Amino acid sequence: MTQTFKTVGVVGAGTMGAGIAQVAAAAGCTVKLFDARDGAAQAAITKSKESLQALANKGKLTPEAAASTAARMHPATDLNDFHDCDLVIEAIIEDLAAKQALFKSLESICAESTVMATNTSSISVTAIGAALARPENLVGMHFFNPAPILPLVEVVSGQLTASAVADRVEAASREWKKTPVRCKSSPGFIVNRVARPYYGEAFRVLESGGADVATIDLVLREAGGFKMGAFELLDLIGLDVNLMVTKSVWNAYYQDARYRPSLTQEEMVAGGMHGRKTGRGFYTYPAGVPAAPASAFGPAPTMVQYLSESDALDPLMERIKAGGIKIQSRKEDDPLGAGQFRVGNAVVCLSDGRSATQIAYEEDLHNVVTLDLARDFSMCKRVALAKGDETTTAALADAVGLFRALGIEVSVIDDIPGMIVARTLAMLANEGADAVLQGVSSAEGVDTAMKLGVNHPEGPLAAADRIGLNLINAILVNMHSHTGDDRYRQSMLLQRKVWGEGAFRDPQ
Ligand code: NAD
Repeated sequence: MTQTFKTVGVVGAGTMGAGIAQVAAAAGCTVKLFDARDGAAQAAITKSKESLQALANKGKLTPEAAASTAARMHPATDLNDFHDCDLVIEAIIEDLAAKQALFKSLESICAESTVMATNTSSISVTAIGAALARPENLVGMHFFNPAPILPLVEVVSGQLTASAVADRVEAASREWKKTPVRCKSSPGFIVNRVARPYYGEAFRVLESGGADVATIDLVLREAGGFKMGAFELLDLIGLDVNLMVTKSVWNAYYQDARYRPSLTQEEMVAGGMHGRKTGRGFYTYPAGVPAAPASAFGPAPTMVQYLSESDALDPLMERIKAGGIKIQSRKEDDPLGAGQFRVGNAVVCLSDGRSATQIAYEEDLHNVVTLDLARDFSMCKRVALAKGDETTTAALADAVGLFRALGIEVSVIDDIPGMIVARTLAMLANEGADAVLQGVSSAEGVDTAMKLGVNHPEGPLAAADRIGLNLINAILVNMHSHTGDDRYRQSMLLQRKVWGEGAFRDPQ
């Protein structure tokens, strides 16, 4: 196979540079690694050789592949050694002036055709290029940590990046067995931007007294289908690192409420509660995440009444039927609407961004219990429920009993708008929609980046299409009106898709 780039220079032999050098060498490129710290490049190569050898010992790599990859990595003592590189990737400190100075030196050393790539996570590619004689040759090549393992590469075009240059870096990323996603230089690119609501909404649930940390994580995992809850993930990433990214995106978007940081996080970071690395964050370590508490309890029902008019609830109805519980059409004069059903004394309403108390008031219903959205009602292990202020505890128990009878665990949370999963999925989709609207990436690109970059089980836009854009839109509209917080304003693209009865993703 012909290689897009044969000789690759990597500047910065820290966490990212060392990993990137190994990726390029494994794909057959000759790699030169340079670091400003004496001996750092050689040390990184030695460490890389050891990890390749360990992979060979485990049978994950042939001994020949491990040896040839290691043999293709060479320490450089001077930037002048990069004179014959056809691609140079920088992974030095996250500082605009330092990156500009480095690329300026490289421009005077390398050929005019050499492609310059930056692994920056947060600096504008356009701004780095502003100092260069050939900004069209500069592109973002944003790997994720650990680079040898995580497949995503955001290929970031600045305002002046030549599309042929981004094309070549995209092709090289594929040759290096990575999955490139094209995007436009903008704060947070795709992943660091679209992932913000995952943490942001969890903080808002916590800060409005909706549920405690462990319950929020449990519901995000077992109803939301996420691999890790927001708080355990924050502990893993480091609250300080995450806060820095949040603040950088928030400031870059002129302090848009969408990205507003949390005072709880600020306070914890100030107190040195940085997560696993300091032994204490939302959980204490090594104990970590506690076991789930026992579910709430209620009597098993024999029947529910439902008006079949909600795509989102239909899979749950199938599960109820399969559980041997009868589904009866609601009575003619029953005021139940779409997304609502009756079990015992409870009127269960799928969360549409309104609280149970609000629904009871606005629709003149009694004993309203809101049901949080689940990513997939046909297989979720848990649901979250909340009762309105006038709902009796007996009615809540009737709703709990239904889910327990189906073998589904129940977390009862406070009556907050948008509950936990509903607001999270709606806000992730909304952010993804705005990224598409603003030309940052395609809908497919956003979905791929979120699956590969932060391990989401499904892209946010594909999830929204599947759940139903009317519901996603309603959650945002209702939360916007309830909270008055501009963070919940809908993306114009979401609104347009609702009106046009369209979808974010083309049907496969
Ligand atoms: P790091 O601190 O582990 O490594 C940086 C290395 O660059 C150090 O070895 C340092 O000696 C060297 N260096 C600094 N200035 C230099 C210069 N002018 N010339 C040559 N070498 C120099 O940092 P890292 O985590 O590898 O991050 C590097 C870059 O990658 C940053 O831009 C960061 O934002 C980005 N990034 C980091 C991650 C991550 O998770 N760590 C993920 C994606 C992107």
